[in-house]
Amino acid sequence: MKTGFDPRMVRQDFPFFSSREQPYHYLDNAATAQMHAAAFEAMHRHDLENRANVMRGNHRLAERATTAYESARQVVARFINAAHASEIVFTGGTTAAINLVAASLGSQWKPGDEVVVSQAEHHSNLLPWQALQARGIVLRVLPLQVDGCLETEALATLIGPRCKLVAVTHASNVTGAVTDVAAVVAAARQVGAWVLLDGAQRVQHGPLDVQALGCDFYAFSGHKCFGPSGIGVLWGQAAWLDRMPPFLRGGGMVGRVEPDQADWAPAPRRFEAGTPPITQAVGLAAVLEALMQWDWDAVHAHEAALQQLLLQGLQALPGLRLLGPVDGTARLPLASFSLAELHPHDLCQVLDGQGVAVRGGHHCAQPLMAHFGVEASVRASLACYNDRSDVDALLAGLVHAREVLA
Ligand code: PMP
Repeated sequence: MKTGFDPRMVRQDFPFFSSREQPYHYLDNAATAQMHAAAFEAMHRHDLENRANVMRGNHRLAERATTAYESARQVVARFINAAHASEIVFTGGTTAAINLVAASLGSQWKPGDEVVVSQAEHHSNLLPWQALQARGIVLRVLPLQVDGCLETEALATLIGPRCKLVAVTHASNVTGAVTDVAAVVAAARQVGAWVLLDGAQRVQHGPLDVQALGCDFYAFSGHKCFGPSGIGVLWGQAAWLDRMPPFLRGGGMVGRVEPDQADWAPAPRRFEAGTPPITQAVGLAAVLEALMQWDWDAVHAHEAALQQLLLQGLQALPGLRLLGPVDGTARLPLASFSLAELHPHDLCQVLDGQGVAVRGGHHCAQPLMAHFGVEASVRASLACYNDRSDVDALLAGLVHAREVLA
């Protein structure tokens, strides 16, 4: 049963806020969100009571650690509505998950086979595919509309019969725009291509349903959804994962090994060579359990109201240029912008002095920044625990920054 969500209370679940002597307006949640108390507690308890390696030992600690690790897989499966826990591969993060798919699938593709990405991708969902060009794989790039949204109408012509996979972001880390996944999946299915979604940004905003999305692979990171860093998830349809060769090789992912050859354990273990991020998996599961108790309609209403305040406040500032859609396109509660000729890094520094944390730079999305004709921008990204005082502090900080820097 849901316990409801009270935006005023939620900060109590995040030790970060009670550990500050001065109020600090943390608006860099798209880079890393603060960690939920459930993750702190679960990881502390696990390392105190059950710390051991997994899958390898017969003593009671090893058994408990293995159970905790495999239970974490089940929690993740529930959070994203995967058909089975065996479809969950623990990785080091979104980047590691996408590299895994690119290296594994790419090794099976032939020269002339194609992969489609968009110009809005984070470098983590671009460079792993770029690397395949050395093997003759053709990279096709979906163009963008003026506002940075994917030009989904161009998909039909861009996705040809040799297309093996379409890899796009579920939501942009620069504009917050949410991708029309149905359009992407429909176009890919026309030629039997698979679809990978980069869910790094979307996962912070509530449980997912990968089956309803209709994609084949989904990647996300723990640190973006109030969990620990050093862990991420690759979800893949079981039938596909079992056909894919491993990416990393080493302990724990084999069937039988002889001096000159080996065969592989079934997925997901085949993709988890070496000691996996055990404690982090336990922490991630604890926070996802907590998130599944929240009333997400209430969270979304809170985030939408804050987002409106943010966008309206920013647009009222003379000389401010907002990047991304403003026409009602579904978007996450974040905003990237430039202010007159002021350099984003200078703005971030002045804002930090005002107790406001935002990100300035190219956000690891240089092709998207080039589309907007800028090198860098400031990004303010809101999470469920932010409130009006955070938005007000940002807006006041920007007015102050302009006075200081002009
Ligand atoms: N994709 C997107 C859209 C992101 O925002 C990020 C993180 N900035 C990543 C991928 C990479 O995530 P990680 O650094 O956790 O691997």
